[in-house]
Amino acid sequence: MTDLFTLDTIGWVEVAVDAGIDAGGHGLHYAIDQELAHLQVGDPVMVPLGKRNRPVRGWIVDRLDTPPPDAPDTLKHVLNLVENAPALPKASIDLARWMASYYITPLGTTLAAMLPPRGAASGAPRQRRWVQPATHPPDTAGRLGANQAAILGHLRDLPRNTLPVERLQLVKTLQLKDASGIDRLVKRGLLEEVSAPEQDSDGPARHQLTEPQHEAISAISASATDGFSVHLLHGITGSGKTEVYLGLIQHTLDRSKAALVLVPEILLTPQTARRLERRFPERRIAILHSGVSIGRRKAAWNAVAQGSVDIVLGARSAVLAPFSHDRLGLIVVDEEHDASYRQDSAPRYHGRDVAVRRGQLAACPVVLGSATPSMESWSNATHQGRFQLHRLRDRAPGLTRPRVRIVDRMDERRQDGGPTRSLGPTLRTALSKTLIEGGQALLLLNRRGWATHIACQKRTCGWVMRCDHCDAALVFHRKRELDAGGTLRCHHCHSQLRMPRKCPACTGGLARLGEGSQRLEDEIAQLHPDLVPGEQLVRLDVDTRGSADKVTRVMDALRDGTIRVLVGTQMIAKGLDLPGVTLVGVVDADTALHMPDFRAAERTFQLVAQVAGRCGRGLQGGQVVIQTCCADDPAIRLAAAEQFDAFAALEYEQREAAGLPPCRRLARMVLEHARLPALRDDARTLVDRLRAADAHWDVTPAAPCPVARIADQHRWQVEILADSAAALHRGLVAARAQRAFEGFASISIDVDPLSLQ
Ligand code: ADP
Ligand code: ZN
Ligand code: ZN
Repeated sequence: MTDLFTLDTIGWVEVAVDAGIDAGGHGLHYAIDQELAHLQVGDPVMVPLGKRNRPVRGWIVDRLDTPPPDAPDTLKHVLNLVENAPALPKASIDLARWMASYYITPLGTTLAAMLPPRGAASGAPRQRRWVQPATHPPDTAGRLGANQAAILGHLRDLPRNTLPVERLQLVKTLQLKDASGIDRLVKRGLLEEVSAPEQDSDGPARHQLTEPQHEAISAISASATDGFSVHLLHGITGSGKTEVYLGLIQHTLDRSKAALVLVPEILLTPQTARRLERRFPERRIAILHSGVSIGRRKAAWNAVAQGSVDIVLGARSAVLAPFSHDRLGLIVVDEEHDASYRQDSAPRYHGRDVAVRRGQLAACPVVLGSATPSMESWSNATHQGRFQLHRLRDRAPGLTRPRVRIVDRMDERRQDGGPTRSLGPTLRTALSKTLIEGGQALLLLNRRGWATHIACQKRTCGWVMRCDHCDAALVFHRKRELDAGGTLRCHHCHSQLRMPRKCPACTGGLARLGEGSQRLEDEIAQLHPDLVPGEQLVRLDVDTRGSADKVTRVMDALRDGTIRVLVGTQMIAKGLDLPGVTLVGVVDADTALHMPDFRAAERTFQLVAQVAGRCGRGLQGGQVVIQTCCADDPAIRLAAAEQFDAFAALEYEQREAAGLPPCRRLARMVLEHARLPALRDDARTLVDRLRAADAHWDVTPAAPCPVARIADQHRWQVEILADSAAALHRGLVAARAQRAFEGFASISIDVDPLSLQ
């Protein structure tokens, strides 16, 4: 052990360790000896950690010319360079430093999130190439192998208007091992490579821009030469925001820079990828999200780090792609309001806000687009004047505004008599009519499972089935193959239980109450037995989503009209551009309205306005039916009327009066402990420390979280409100320096939190 300290020191480095331990958002200092003199910033190394000098992985985040002030003589030495592991680009380190500081998270954990997944790289980002049978094939081509004959035969049988075919698509269609057979046919002159087709079944690759689209593109691209700026593109659903992104990307590529495009949901990547690939067929486009295989993600990471990718498209974590500051020329955050941009496990961050910071570091424009901007971005673009606002107030040419009807669920139930159903008479009639007319329907119910709770049928008993480990009711999920017809699941700790036959309290019968997306699916199957389940009637939510491939298949089936009715949770409300959809039904607009969350109205507005916007994208127009018990609620009324400005003004006024974000800034700490008395002590200590750390912020008294127990851990929260981001940050940095967050069984710190569960 002693030899750790006796080596000849020739320099010093700051190392961020993967283990999540650091010195207040900075790395730890180590000495290096002659053998490691070549170490550079970004290099992965092994260092000894703790009393036992456990070797852990880390990255060099700085090299120092003079010994660090903290105990230079007793500094431990870096053990070795990790071979075969990627070095991190300087831009990643800059970004991670900011994230670690802003979100009060360890630098090493943040850097670890910027690495490619571990495993071998495979399938580098492809450059698309198109082939077709040669117009003038050679007279004597010689004998063909079975593989090559099959490829050539397939292409010769295809109708002319479907040629050329994309080379790798052909590999997929014919289930070939690789493209070598195709390449050999090209070499032999039997196939020819041609440029990308101008137009395919999706219509033209580019549109004649409308005046507002044109204005937005020129204004934003004009600012690109000035470096960093943030733009909020507020365009109603179907106003052609994507077309604006495409125009801006074009300008970016023309300046030999790369573009980063973020979408909130994996589901949206195939649709956007397709539009990017059609518009920029010769460019290298990398797709980065958790649904892409590890090998492909790793290859994409390498290619981005080498500067050989033109466009990265991905979900939240793609904001951490290893672009250099120089290379990055544009960041687009589509559907910027979406809560999926928020990562709720360490390192906690908001993808949109990190994107803004990234744009600042790279000195490039950042474009945030949405039909329903977050109150944060809206206030930045209006009250604060930090973002430039661009607006698309009308639908793109050819798109019509859907007819929107709000129906009162109580009235409808009275009309209906009989058993309670998810679809009231208005929506039932609209659905039948849509199906007869050959349209497609999208039905949204933002609750998973079949029944939201199981309760005793006897009123006098009142027993409700709850999770043993959480402060939550269990949700019934249908599984036909089981005797009991399904299982009970906890949506918090993911435990599963068998459905009991009788009430354990009084042996009475049990009722399955509350509607979930599964029950809705069953109800529609009963109403329309002619729809083939799983083919024409499809449900899409976290439970059925599965792999990225499956999502692509669902999207294709929607596009080609196979799916007639799609049932789903909020996942289907996001950004989908589906021309065949003529009916959108919101089964229960109130799911978010009564949540104990100051953003309940904002969420409701977003959900209703977004899902309504999925309709009327084709030439037939369409209709939207919104079922609610709160027909007069402004969030629902204004969403139906597509009046964002009015809603935002009302909402802002309320937030201002209540002193809530975006008017003030919020941080939330959640403490967890298996024993309640210990947790109360922890909470009291934390509140005292936070009040002592900064006199200018407000610290709320500690209280149980809305979900007060998860997986046998009791949960209490403390909230901090400050007048500005800077004030909040100052206080948090001071608190961290005073070790205010140390010594608890479990604490999570959430700066600008979205989820308040
Ligand atoms: P948004 O993202 O704002 O909801 P999209 O960009 O998806 O809207 O555009 C909606 C539809 O309108 C798309 O099918 C798109 O191809 C079409 N579109 C967009 N801009 C134009 C235009 N200038 N002319 C004709 N069609 C357009
Ligand atoms: Zn549970
Ligand atoms: Zn009972």
